[in-house]
Amino acid sequence: GDALAVSARVAPLGSRLVLLLVEDLTEARRIEAVRRDFVANVSHELKTPVGALSLLSEAVMDAADDPEAVERFAGRMQTEATRLTNLVQELIDLSRVQNDDPLEDAEPVRVDELVTEAIDRCRHQAGTKQITMAAGGTADLHLWGNRGQLAAALGNLVENAVNYSPARTRVGIAARRVNAPGGDLIEIAVTDQGIGISDKDKERIFERFYRVDPARSRATGGTGLGLAIVKHVAASHGGEVTVWSSEGQGSTFTLRLPEAGSARDRGPQSTAER
Ligand code: ADP
Repeated sequence: GDALAVSARVAPLGSRLVLLLVEDLTEARRIEAVRRDFVANVSHELKTPVGALSLLSEAVMDAADDPEAVERFAGRMQTEATRLTNLVQELIDLSRVQNDDPLEDAEPVRVDELVTEAIDRCRHQAGTKQITMAAGGTADLHLWGNRGQLAAALGNLVENAVNYSPARTRVGIAARRVNAPGGDLIEIAVTDQGIGISDKDKERIFERFYRVDPARSRATGGTGLGLAIVKHVAASHGGEVTVWSSEGQGSTFTLRLPEAGSARDRGPQSTAER
């Protein structure tokens, strides 16, 4: 269907038609390959914890008369079950952000609330590593968008900052308004003093399932989907996410998103609401 439509449009252009059709097919093939890779990755990621659970349940049965071993295996089963739950939840989140138009139920979203929520979500993990979390500049700032999606995006960035940082370091969250042509933006920067990311990896970390160190990511309950979700949420809100990092020094992930009430918010009811 698409190819026919293209050919009808460009028929008078002669040989350029062939070129356009080839480009169209190449793009279609690329999309198909990405889809196939994704399904293969999901299958692999699901198989790992399911396989482990199956082996562990056998081990529990074999160790029935050794209570200590049973307890140990049961603990590991719990870890695998948590991993599976996280993965399924992140897959649901990813599919939501890919399929739902965030601006359909967009509303003004308070930045201070998003930041407090993100910090609360990581409080336990940060506490066990004695990581201090501090936020600034969030007062009186409002984003325009889907509250749940924006919360998931910021939550993922703060969670990563804590996960990829050594003990007794600091995670900072700084928000500010930035004047920009086409409407004001809100910038939220999450800075850590963690392991950092090499230039080579920086290009790939936003891909689904890409992890610099898969073992480390798994150990902290990571799924490799977090940054793909963040990138999708930023883009669908008309914003972006960027990263600055220095290996061994730390990283800063910066979200730039439309401010509520600026010329950028595209909701028809936006002005009536405020
Ligand atoms: P994960 O679930 O593995 O954390 P993400 O998509 O959130 O998946 O991140 C992809 C990879 O990017 C991580 O596995 C990690 O290697 C790297 N990464 C993300 N955030 C940071 C950070 N703040 N510091 C260092 N590395 C990071």
